[in-house]
Amino acid sequence: MSDIVISLRDVTKRYGMSKVLKGVNLDIEKGEIYGLIGKNGSGKTTIFKTILGLSEFQGGTLFVGDEGDTLKQGRAKIGFFIGTHFFPYMTAKQNLKYYCKLKGVKGARAEINRVLEIVGLKDVKSKFKAYSLGMKQRLGVAAAMLGNPEIIILDEPTNGLDPQGIADVRNVLKKLNEEYGTTIVISSHILGELQNTAHRFAILNDGVIANVFSQEDLSVESEYEYIKLKSSDIQMAKEVLEHVGIEIQGEKKETVSLEDYYFNVVGGQENE
Ligand code: ADP
Repeated sequence: MSDIVISLRDVTKRYGMSKVLKGVNLDIEKGEIYGLIGKNGSGKTTIFKTILGLSEFQGGTLFVGDEGDTLKQGRAKIGFFIGTHFFPYMTAKQNLKYYCKLKGVKGARAEINRVLEIVGLKDVKSKFKAYSLGMKQRLGVAAAMLGNPEIIILDEPTNGLDPQGIADVRNVLKKLNEEYGTTIVISSHILGELQNTAHRFAILNDGVIANVFSQEDLSVESEYEYIKLKSSDIQMAKEVLEHVGIEIQGEKKETVSLEDYYFNVVGGQENE
């Protein structure tokens, strides 16, 4: 059985008279990138704040961390990014030094260099107020990574970013997950973006999780099994396939994705 590191059972939460979470059930497995999808105001941030203990919940149960952990011990294993909260007149290093002190991270100097290297901000000397939005978001992700937490929660980390910024954050998250095995929970209302990043997804609708599905579910939704064929002579390739008895049941000309097209034009890259 896979390890569950975050589990919500019938969690309810209201702000005043308004019920925001109406019995949320959610299981997040160790080592996965999990995408929480929902329109603005659907309660994604509230779920995160509940998991982190920044917001009280009224009903249901919550488990965080590894087997035997108390809620406090489990929560200590989470790094998070919910909006950027940095001092504008300080550099990235100075800001992160502050967060190291706040979080009690040991060996701050080396740790700050490590996380800044991962997000590509190590050589930036300017103050936070001069950063582009993408740099600010990346510094937020870096702050969440301090102390190499087992779990990272990111609330809309690509919100307001341009395509290059979105690709940068996506690559950082993939690297973190693949190289460090970090479990990542990420919310977004940009579906195409989450599809490129997460292994599993949950749709939050009207205060409940309406659907949970995986990348595999998305790929088997298709009616046919299919392969992609790239050739200088498609007609000839089709004839060869038919000649050896392989029936072509359908064909679809693929268009270039908007993102690829954009990067072709502006010359940016997805720095894999
Ligand atoms: P999302 O992150 O999906 O955009 P939120 O969790 O921020 O959604 O908000 C869910 C709902 O709860 C919204 O209707 C929002 O207005 C309300 N809400 C969020 N925070 C508060 C608060 N501190 N007090 C009252 N209502 C709140």
